Amino acid sequence: MEGPDVNMQSIERDHRGDIVGRWTDLDYVLMRDGPSAGPGFEPGEDTKSVLMDVMHVLVLGAGGLGCELLKDLALSGFKKIDVIDMDTIDLSNLNRQFLFRPHDIGKPKAIIAAERVMERVEGVTVTPHYCRIEDKDDDWFQQFHIIIMGLDSLEARSYMNAVACSFLRFEADGTPDQSTIKPLIDGGTEGWKGHARVILPGVTPCFHCTMWLFPPQTTYPLCTLAETPRIAAHCIEYAHLIQWGNERPNEEFDADDPEHMKWIYENAMRRAEAFGIEGVTLHHTMGVVKNIIPAIPSTNAIIAGQCALEALKMATMCAKGMDNFMMYNGSDGVYTHTVAYEKDPDCPMCSPGVAMELPKESTLSDVIDAIVKKFEDTVALPSISTSNGTNLYMRGVLEEATRDNLPRKMSELLGEEHGGGEKLDGLIIVNDKKLKGPLRVRLSLA
Ligand SMILES: [Zn+2]
Repeated sequence: MEGPDVNMQSIERDHRGDIVGRWTDLDYVLMRDGPSAGPGFEPGEDTKSVLMDVMHVLVLGAGGLGCELLKDLALSGFKKIDVIDMDTIDLSNLNRQFLFRPHDIGKPKAIIAAERVMERVEGVTVTPHYCRIEDKDDDWFQQFHIIIMGLDSLEARSYMNAVACSFLRFEADGTPDQSTIKPLIDGGTEGWKGHARVILPGVTPCFHCTMWLFPPQTTYPLCTLAETPRIAAHCIEYAHLIQWGNERPNEEFDADDPEHMKWIYENAMRRAEAFGIEGVTLHHTMGVVKNIIPAIPSTNAIIAGQCALEALKMATMCAKGMDNFMMYNGSDGVYTHTVAYEKDPDCPMCSPGVAMELPKESTLSDVIDAIVKKFEDTVALPSISTSNGTNLYMRGVLEEATRDNLPRKMSELLGEEHGGGEKLDGLIIVNDKKLKGPLRVRLSLA
């Protein structure tokens, strides 16, 4: 094959306006059948057109994974991409977030990443959203065929998982309604380790089904910090989370202010000495306070590549999708392993839940009474929230704040959650001290 012609006038373009030969590599997988093709795959222009003209994908995060993802997706033939990120570019990002340059420091990641990809990859439209994921209405996420997560926080993943699962509806026999499945692809890296996974809510385990996969977060119970510190990190977090607020109540702690960090370090040091604990250093203090996880560019590239490949497979069915979790470890040689995790049949996010039918006019109070009656062995004093995490009625400290909801109509409370629509069925999550975990109730108000 001849290389690209330097004489612009003689460049040949196809009916799509692309330089002839541009998608040769993609054509190998999209224009012909093969033994690893996925179910329903039909090679040819139509499939290519679905990928390029129809598919609309969302990338969450424009950081280490996000930059790689945007580039990979654009080069894989996706032409309509949106990206959300709430951060601005920091000097320390430049070693791996390769879409950014020194003069971009301080600018929003989403906007710059979108510009750079569009500059470099002809024909792709990347629409940036400089905001938090939570700033978008749930319905806004419906427009995307695939949502790809390049996030570094469990909270943001949990949130997106809850939103995607909230779209899920079930048939009368308890099988998921295929048209309501919002696919998620999740990538994550930590140092030399990473994972890529495919979440088809209702089909494969959702993020919540496999919460145990994630190591316990390094947060410590406040009582430990206040009363029984055992390790250096306890002393550091005490100075950071408790002492600062008590002794410098009018100042917001800024982890990037060296004086603030030194103050935390010195106070943690004194506390450690008082409890006979060793190991408090300024370096350790910064690590604990900033929760620094080393970021390795090659790990990001590998994980993002896998995620983009899964997106391509999902969009075109050119190959069977991953089932359903791939872990990668590059810390000692290279090791990967793919495993089909199983759904939690009682998952409060993605299981069909227990069906319950109540009159249309039922109040929240009526719903609680009905739940207590139906589950009398396991539920006595339930707290109720929606599947998106909005508290409807809580026991304990939030009781007062949620009490006013009790006489309100359930249809109204659920309607509000869905943006005021006429939605009369909804999932509610029931928590009770007597329950092992949250109980998912599929409420229909007729
Ligand atoms: Zn689940």
